[in-house]
This record gives sequence, C-alpha cells and structure tokens, in this order.
Amino acid sequence: MTKRIFRSILAVSLTVLLASLILIVGVLHGYFQERVKVELESRTAYIAHGIENEGMDYLTSGLPADCRITLVDRDGAVIYDNWEDASKMENHAQREEIHEAMMLGKGHAARYSETLAQKTLYYALRLEDGSVLRVSDTQYSVWLLVLQALQPVALVLLLAFVLAMALAARVSKQLVMPINAIDLNDPEGVEGYEELTPLLSKIRSQNRQIQRQVMDLKRRQEEFAAITENMNEGFLVIDQETRVLSYNSSALKLLHGERPAEEGESVFSLNREAGFRRAVEEALSGRRSEQLLEKDDECRQIMANPVEQNGTVAGAVLVVLDVTEKEQRESLRREFTANVSHELKTPLTSILGTAEIMQNGLVKPEDIPHFAGNIHREAGRLIGLVNDIIKLSRLDEGGAAGSWETVELYGLSGRILEQLAPAAEKKQVTMELKGESAAAKGVPQIMEEILYNLCDNAVAYNREGGRVTVTVESTPDGSRVTVSDTGIGIPQEMQGRVFERFYRADKSHSAGGTGLGLSIVKHGVAYLGARLELKSQPGKGSTFTVTFPPVRA
Ligand code: ADP
Repeated sequence: MTKRIFRSILAVSLTVLLASLILIVGVLHGYFQERVKVELESRTAYIAHGIENEGMDYLTSGLPADCRITLVDRDGAVIYDNWEDASKMENHAQREEIHEAMMLGKGHAARYSETLAQKTLYYALRLEDGSVLRVSDTQYSVWLLVLQALQPVALVLLLAFVLAMALAARVSKQLVMPINAIDLNDPEGVEGYEELTPLLSKIRSQNRQIQRQVMDLKRRQEEFAAITENMNEGFLVIDQETRVLSYNSSALKLLHGERPAEEGESVFSLNREAGFRRAVEEALSGRRSEQLLEKDDECRQIMANPVEQNGTVAGAVLVVLDVTEKEQRESLRREFTANVSHELKTPLTSILGTAEIMQNGLVKPEDIPHFAGNIHREAGRLIGLVNDIIKLSRLDEGGAAGSWETVELYGLSGRILEQLAPAAEKKQVTMELKGESAAAKGVPQIMEEILYNLCDNAVAYNREGGRVTVTVESTPDGSRVTVSDTGIGIPQEMQGRVFERFYRADKSHSAGGTGLGLSIVKHGVAYLGARLELKSQPGKGSTFTVTFPPVRA
C-alpha cells in the first residue's frame, strides 16, 4: 500500500512538473518573440533615422554586426548588405517584407530554417527616397533554447525529481502510518485522521459482531458437549477422511479407545475391529450401517449414519451402544424358553405314557393306584413348575404380588418349618428355630416364598438325620434370617450359578425340584431391596442369609 501511494504521488508530481515546464517554456517563448519584434522595429527605425541624416556613410560607420542590415533601392536591387556582397545578391523586390514595405511603408516577415532550427524575423521600412531598409534578427526555436539550456534544465529536473521522491516517500508513509497503527482488536486506541473514522467504526461494529458470534458458538458448543457428555451412548462425528471432529467420553469408553492424541486423528485409531471399520466405511460410502462388536463378554452396537451436504457425503455420525445386558437377556430368554419347554415335556410325556398304558388295559387293577399316583405326582410337578414360572415372571415384571406390609419374621419362619415338618420327618432331619422376634417391611407373599424355598432346599439337600437351623435376629443392618443346614453343600464354582433359572448343582439329588427355587429367592430379595449371602462347603452344609432393609420408625 505504501509503495502504491508513493508511486502515485511521484507520478502526479512528475506530471505536474513536466506540464509546468512546457507551459513556462511556451509562455516565455511567446514573450521573447514579442520582445525581439519590438526591439527589431526600434532598431530599424533608429538605423533608418541614421541613413536619412548621414546617408550611406552611417551604414559603414561601424554598426554592430549582430543583426543583418540590407538596403534595397526602389526597384528591389540590393544596394548594401552588411553580411554578404550586395552585387552578388538577387533582386529582393518580391521578398514579402520588402514588397509590403514598398506598398505600405513597412513590412514584417518571419522565415523558418529547418536546417538551422531557427527563425529569422524581418522588418522592412521604406525610406523617404523610396529605398527600403531591412533589418533581420534570428530567433532560436523553443527546443533549441531548451537544448541549449539542457544542462541547467536537467539539473533542475533532477533536483525536482529527488525532491518529489523524498516528499512522496514522506507523505505516503504519513498516510499509511495511522492505517498500519490500527489494532484490529482495539480500533479505539488509534489517533487517525478524519477519513479513517468510517473504517474504524466499521471494524468496531464487525468486532462486536464477531464477538457475539464467537460467544454464541461457544455457548452452543458447551450445550452440545454437556448433552453428549451426559449420554451413556457413545457419540462420534467424523469427516470424509475419517478424522474425528467431535466425540464424547462414552464413545472412548465403549470403543476402548485412547483420547485422540492430536486433532484430526483417524477414528480407526480408537478401534481397529473389523465390524467397526465396516460400519464407518459403509456410512462414508453413503449407506446407513449397523454392526455388533463382541469382545470379552461385552457387546456393543455401532450405528453409523452418513451426513450429506449438497448431495455428497461429507462425513458420518456414529452412535455406540452398550448392548451387553440386552444381548445377555436375549440369550437368557432363549435359554429359558428352551428349558421351560424341556421341563414341561418331561412330566407330560410321563403322564401321557402312564395314561396310555392304563387306557390300553395293560395295568392290573391292583397296580392302578400306583400308576394314578405317578400321574398325580407328575401333574403336581407340572403345577409346581407352572406356578414357579408365574412367580418369576411376576417378579420380572416388577411385582404385582401384593402390598407392602410389616412382617414378623420369627412367626413366619415358624409357620414355614411346620409346613415342611412332614418332609423333614421323612428324611429324619431335625429342624430348629432360634433367635428372637424381628420385623421387616415387604410383600408378605414374596417374603414367604423366599424363606420357604430356602428352608425347603435345606431339607431337600440335607443328609438323613441332618439338621436345619433357622435363626431370626434383629441387627443394626436390619432383620436377618439365616437358614443353615448340614447337607451336601454346594461346590465353590457352582455357588454363583445356583441362582440361575433351571440350574441344578447336583442333578442326582434334585429330582423333585423345578430348578427355579433359588431364582425366585434371588429375584424376590432384589425386589424387596434385601441382601442375600451364601456360604457353603461341600459335604458339610450350606448357610443362606437374607438381610432385610431396616424398618424406619
Ligand atoms: P431346585 O428346584 O433344583 O431345588 P433351586 O433353584 O432351589 O432348584 O436350587 C438350585 C440348585 O442349587 C439345586 O438343584 C441344588 O443343586 C442346589 N441347592 C440349592 N439349595 C441347596 C442347599 N441348601 N444345599 C445344597 N445344594 C443346594
């Protein structure tokens, strides 16, 4: 900018300088021409006066030879010339100035010589005797004058040029200085000239606008970050080159990725599983894609959607979900359905077979009670199974088992042991109730099922002549019921699994059970917000402890 201004100022100065020079030379030339003319006239008049008084002698009396003097008689023949031999000169009657003087008394003429680049001015005056005196003087052309004065003119031009340069440099610097001094962030602090005011106020208003937009963007980004950061789902935005533009911490967690080291790192640096790569590539080629990533008991679902801009794919949005639990539930459900079908089929096949034999008359009348007993037992198992399934599904759906009440656990345990007395007697198992009265809040039916199943198992998985001890106590943690037996126990590695549906630790001992009892216990305990613990040693016995939440006064 400084250079441009400098060049412009210099160009203007030089143009003005040259134009002034030409004008001045023109004006001076006109002025000098006029002066020469006037001087020529007065000199001619002066010489004419001399001739009139002194005759031809005046001409030879040593007049200065700087101008040409010619005397012509009335016929035009040259009588005298101070520069040339008069006798050799041709007749001058037809010369413009002489002709004019003969006719009018005086005559002017100017003739230009190309070769000498000079102009000769003539002035002729008719004398009293009819002869004509002509005096001429040369006048140099403008260019010749300039050419002659070339050295000083060049010097002046050079000086003027240098001066113009210096001034142009100074002025352009002064003009640009306030503009350069503008601090775009703080245009207020500039002491510029008046013409800068609109520019400064424009910068100020644009600064304010930019500031507002930046704040707005920041706020939106913070909102967006707050929303995505609180999401359990992983969220990633990538561009066409797979560079990560935005992500939340759930995405890193679910993809087991490290925080991108630098901006613009490829999304593949977060996860290199084939399914993930497929989802990204499909989305970037414009197709929505869903993939399941399974690794180390974890299951994640990737949903990749292309982002289109002006008809081309500009990037993709990836959502990562943790579907481990869903997948586990799904597989449990499948397993449960298969188990239920199997569990139902066994007693039904037995009932069907027995009924068929009886129908075909293959059973002796005295054996009928035995076969009918079989059918009764299997039907009873079926009903027990169906009831357990109903209980479980009720607990799965979140209860509907009844209202919450305060239940006295010592009394409840006593009633359950009474119910189990025949079975215990059959196995010669001694049952004992210890402890004190303790209350807990819960759904009575669920509490009864929990304690019943635990006591039932304690008898069922006991040895002949064994012992079952139920202890009820009130602790600072809440009321606690401990069901302890001296039975077969559960091996350590199976202790976690006995609460699964249809899981039986010892198949040989659980002929009568449905395999759902401990599942009902586990779900019931969870429903009531109680705590369940199992301690067991194979061959020595097991202890199940249920601690109900403390009852608030
Ligand atoms: P089941 O109807 O077979 O009794 P449960 O869910 O009540 O089903 O129990 C699951 C399995 O856990 C049983 O098959 C049994 O192997 C084991 N089990 C439960 N309680 C006891 C216990 N008190 N002592 C030893 N094993 C037990």
